Amino acid sequence: MEEQEWRTGKFQRGNTWRSEEVSECTVCGTRTNRWEMGGYPGMGPRLHCPGGVYREHDEIVGAHERQKELKSLIVSYESELQHQCYEISAQTRGYIATLLHMHRAEYSLLQGKIDRLRELFTEKLLHDVKGIKGEPTVVVPCTPFTSGGTQKKSLQEGKI
Ligand SMILES: [Zn+2]
Repeated sequence: MEEQEWRTGKFQRGNTWRSEEVSECTVCGTRTNRWEMGGYPGMGPRLHCPGGVYREHDEIVGAHERQKELKSLIVSYESELQHQCYEISAQTRGYIATLLHMHRAEYSLLQGKIDRLRELFTEKLLHDVKGIKGEPTVVVPCTPFTSGGTQKKSLQEGKI
């Protein structure tokens, strides 16, 4: 299907098709080329990550969001220490340095968690790529549509 072909009205909600391009989920690394026409909150083609039905997918997204917050705190504390070093008391500088230390530690703990969870997705090989004729296939990084709210499975079920 051409990029804008769905707008011609030949597609209905729930229709699925395969593209020649393969998309790789930026969250879990799973690949898919299966598109679906979504009807809410607005008609349009959607790419669902096959890994999106697992709780661990949300956990990775949550960890990335927390990392983003930490990163901006780290940057602001660093600049605080650099630019106002003569106006901040030694005690406050000490507190800021401790906070920085803790935020950096949390950031790298989260990275460890993300790496571990992504490993689970790699082990499961949930890729859903079909119907491609010939090579080469372009792999496009993307953040697929994942539905929230529904009860999700765990990749680690059955594991002790
Ligand atoms: Zn994914």
